[in-house]
Order: sequence, then structure tokens, then C-alpha cells
Amino acid sequence: MTFPPIREELQGIEPYGAPQLDVPVQLNVNENPYGPSPATAADIAAAAGAAATTLNRYPDREFTALREGLAAYLNTSGGSGITPDMVWAANGSNEVMLQLLQAFGGPGRAALSFAPTYAMYPEYARDTHTEWLVGKREDDFGLDLDRARALVEERRPSVVLLPSPNNPTGTALPTEAVSTLCEAVGEGGIVVVDEAYTEFRRTGTPSALEMLPTHRNLVVTRTMSKAFALAGARLGYLAADPAICDAIRVVRLPYHLSSVTQATALAALRHAPELLGRVADLRVERDSCVAWLREQGLQVAESDANFALFGTFADRRAVWQGLLDRGVLIRETGPEGWLRVSIGTPDEMMAFKDALIDVMKTEPMRPQPTEGST
Ligand SMILES: *Cc1c(COP(=O)(O)O)cnc(C)c1O
Repeated sequence: MTFPPIREELQGIEPYGAPQLDVPVQLNVNENPYGPSPATAADIAAAAGAAATTLNRYPDREFTALREGLAAYLNTSGGSGITPDMVWAANGSNEVMLQLLQAFGGPGRAALSFAPTYAMYPEYARDTHTEWLVGKREDDFGLDLDRARALVEERRPSVVLLPSPNNPTGTALPTEAVSTLCEAVGEGGIVVVDEAYTEFRRTGTPSALEMLPTHRNLVVTRTMSKAFALAGARLGYLAADPAICDAIRVVRLPYHLSSVTQATALAALRHAPELLGRVADLRVERDSCVAWLREQGLQVAESDANFALFGTFADRRAVWQGLLDRGVLIRETGPEGWLRVSIGTPDEMMAFKDALIDVMKTEPMRPQPTEGST
């Protein structure tokens, strides 16, 4: 007998999360390195302060003003004709996706993604007693649509989770991949395109929001944690058919979005041009980081996100530790031999590059030779 009497399948499981270490250069959780200006921070504080005067009351359960603000933002960010009843929000898009699994997964149902994929998805499945199915991405981390469709037709998942751009690889999916999977899943399930990083996508890369009018079973999730530079506020959201939002209402906890969260997110939306203002710089920094890593003889996955996955190393742990010893924290994630670095300020990227050059001087930490790949 073990105490506490936790569910058997949870015994001995380590909670998910990157190491939180106090080092000078933190490039491990894909945050936006640029915080709000003092003026914006003061406006957010004033909004939170106003909310504080009514904290004896429960918040607006339907977060009406926030849904209007998010719908308006989405219509400037790849969407069109998105109305507030098509928007749902929660404490981070992780909570939004857990709610989707609570409403559309469950015993006797399955959720499917394609590896490498976001490490939290199997946890939502486990926590909602949903069977977890995982197909494979190709060597370039894209999807083979015929194989993906065949897997959906064989296993009939209720929920398909497609991060685009993908984490940890940075790979964005073409429009065709989303429509193929929406058609394969049909009305018996939903397809969730997780666009946590979409604001960083390269010119010409589409958003799945474009396909909402043609696919009733499509859900597009977004977050204010990455491009919007608001990870600390915890606000994620989705756009979908109003009937899907109604279904989530059944499983959400009462008053799940606090008045302070709603006021903070609304104030941040008013300052969207500033908060999103460094995205263009980060994209340039990303592209130059990818090019630089390739010049070092490394393989780098094509990235539409604010990070780069690179490798491969015989001992990636040693490389990660070597960087940490030099004050640079990145992430040990992705397929064996690969590492992920978030895009920071120019100074932070300089520190990363200097540390990596130094680490790679040692024999076992040199990149492994590749055959004819990038
Ligand atoms: C960071 C991230 C999210 C966003 O998480 P929040 O809960 O909104 O902070 C969602 N999906 C992926 C793939 C991510 O990497």
C-alpha cells in the first residue's frame, strides 16, 4: 500500500515542467523576452486595481467583454467573421485543451496526435480517461497526409490534436493537412489546431482560422503566453463553431476566469500593438539563429515559431549541461539527440552562441555527422 492513495496510473509520475533555474540567460520555455513598457504595465495595474474594488463579487461567468476583444483581435490575425459566440477562453490554452478533452474525450474515446508533438497532450488524455494514440511525423517533421488519413479512418479518434507551428519542432502545417484531417475525422470528432506560436509564422504560412467557415469540426486554439508576452497572466482561448463553445460550458468550472484575469487580458488587448511589437524582431532573430546553427554544421528543423530545434548530439544531456554551466538554460526535448532553444534578445542569443561554440570544442559534444541533410 502506498500513501497517498493516488490513482494507480499516476503513481510515481513526475509532474510536467521544465526545470525552473535561476540563470542569467533563460531560453527554455519559449517566452517572449520583451516585457511590457512601464506605461503598459501601469495601465494593466490600473485595470487590475479597478477589478479589485469588486472582488467581493464573482466575475462575469461569460467574460463577455473579453470574448468581444479576442474576437476582434482574431479578425486582425488571420481570421474573418469571427464573432464573440465563437470564442472561448480559460487560464492558458492548456486549460482550454483540457476542457476540450473533458467535453469530447473520455472513456471509450480516443485522442490522436503525431510525434514529435506537444508533451502535455498525453497528459490531458490520461487525466480525462481518454485513450491516447500517436502517429508519426516524417523525417522533416511534416505529415504524410495519406498515412495520417488512414490512421484516422482506422482508429476513429474523437479528438485530433495538431500543433501548428509544432512544439518542439517549429513545423507549421499546410492548409491541406488541416482540411484533410477535418474531413477524415468527420462529424464524429473534432480537430484541434494548436496555434500557440502562430504570430511568429513566416510570410506565406497560413493560419487555420481561414478554414473555420468550411469545417464545423475545426477548433483553433491560441494563447497570450507567447507572442503576446503575457505568459504570467494565464490566458488562452479558442475559435470554433458556437456549438463547440456551448459544449465546453458544460464542463468548465464555475467562474473559472477571475475578474483580475479578465481585466488584465482586456488591458493587454488594448496594448496589442506594443505587446506584439517585437514579434517582427524575434522572427528575424529566429531566422538568423537557424542560419547560424546550420553554419556550425548542425541540423535545424524549419521553424515558424520563436524557437529552433537543432542537433544532433551523441550526448545531448552533456551539451545542455555545458550550456547551463555557462549560464544559458535551453530545453532538452524533442527526438533523441536534439535540443530546443527559444529566441531571446540579441544579447541573449549572443550569449547562447558563444556558449555553444565553447561547448562544441569538446569531442563528445560535437554535432554528429549527417548524410546530405540540412
Ligand atoms: C506554450 C504552448 C501552449 C500555451 O500554453 P498556455 O497554457 O497558453 O501558456 C500551448 N501549446 C503549445 C504547443 C505550447 O508550446
